[in-house]
Amino acid sequence: MEDLIIPRVVARLVDGRIKLHIDLKFNPNHGPDGRFTTYGSGGRIQTPGGESPHFGPGGKPSKPTAPKYSKMSGEELAKELQSAADKRDAEKKEEAKERKKLKTAYKQAQKEREGLPTVGSAAEIEAARDKWNAECKKGGKWDSTTPEAKAVWAELNRLRSPKDAKAAALADKKVSEAGKASASFEDKVRAKNKAAKEQFHTALTLDKEDRASLDIRGDKKLAGKTSVKKGIARYEELVSAEALGERSRVYIENAGRERAFYRDSDGSVHLESGGGRGIATVVHELGHHLEHASPAARHAAVMFRREKTVGSPTKSLKTVSKAYDRDEIYKERSDGKKWIDPYMGKIYRRGGSTELLSMGLEMLATKPDVLLKKDPELFALVVNAARGKL
Ligand SMILES: [Zn+2]
Repeated sequence: MEDLIIPRVVARLVDGRIKLHIDLKFNPNHGPDGRFTTYGSGGRIQTPGGESPHFGPGGKPSKPTAPKYSKMSGEELAKELQSAADKRDAEKKEEAKERKKLKTAYKQAQKEREGLPTVGSAAEIEAARDKWNAECKKGGKWDSTTPEAKAVWAELNRLRSPKDAKAAALADKKVSEAGKASASFEDKVRAKNKAAKEQFHTALTLDKEDRASLDIRGDKKLAGKTSVKKGIARYEELVSAEALGERSRVYIENAGRERAFYRDSDGSVHLESGGGRGIATVVHELGHHLEHASPAARHAAVMFRREKTVGSPTKSLKTVSKAYDRDEIYKERSDGKKWIDPYMGKIYRRGGSTELLSMGLEMLATKPDVLLKKDPELFALVVNAARGKL
């Protein structure tokens, strides 16, 4: 079924002012888990024919279309992913209860198995064990392969074996089944966690026609390294061509033993020769490229940092980690919240640059769920900057 296109007027709050624009491409979608996504206060939208858009002719339910993640703003995406994350969190609570139950059942089964009456008494088993130990140590060096040691071992096992073989087999089966139930439960949990991770990845990945395409120059060998290539590819998936405008040229250079950095003057990304933190570093430095390429992104990032740190004193980053240089400074937030990493509050003496888009984009590439959970406002800012929606 074709997507249903309904023009709509969209109101957005921008810098405290309401902005209206007509969205010709509004497409009512289903959420990722099949829920109907409502925009604003609209609720379900009726077509002129009186049919709701996700029902085909004759009221037959049509297949839910994939959400148009690529067109969403940071706020819309945050909302969409937040509800999925909330749902997953609620599931996790139930899973914790279930895990506890399964563990208890497993322990119980083990206890029952161990509690079965054995051929020998506890004292007899203990004595046989001592005898076996002594037998093994006899020659001065531990040796459990002598015929004598083997004989004592066989006797120990005979004494340890359950009196009732049938009951033992049944108890063994119970232990094994409880173990399997636990393992298959954990498999399901892992699959759910993987799906949740993939949902973030998919939602953040722009459609091909929206993506940036970098013109990579400089150190071709370094640029051809797998982690560098992967970092560049992820950057292009996260950042739109619209956001970068004409600024798609990037020089990849070798920083040698120096910490990776970005140089505004020639748009060059300098990477540690050892690879640094791989994709994270590449996307981080390219985040500086985004801030450099998009004046709107730079302005929004500087304003964000300024607003969140009003009245905060300037501090040395040396107080955070000795790895920072002596002249690196930052400001803590003054809005009652904390930066996910103090480095996000870094101040550049020349001004006009931040570590918000670099750190933010790095997180968007490596742990977007954490960014959304800990700082949804920054998540929205970074997505909007990356998508040219500022
Ligand atoms: Zn940086």
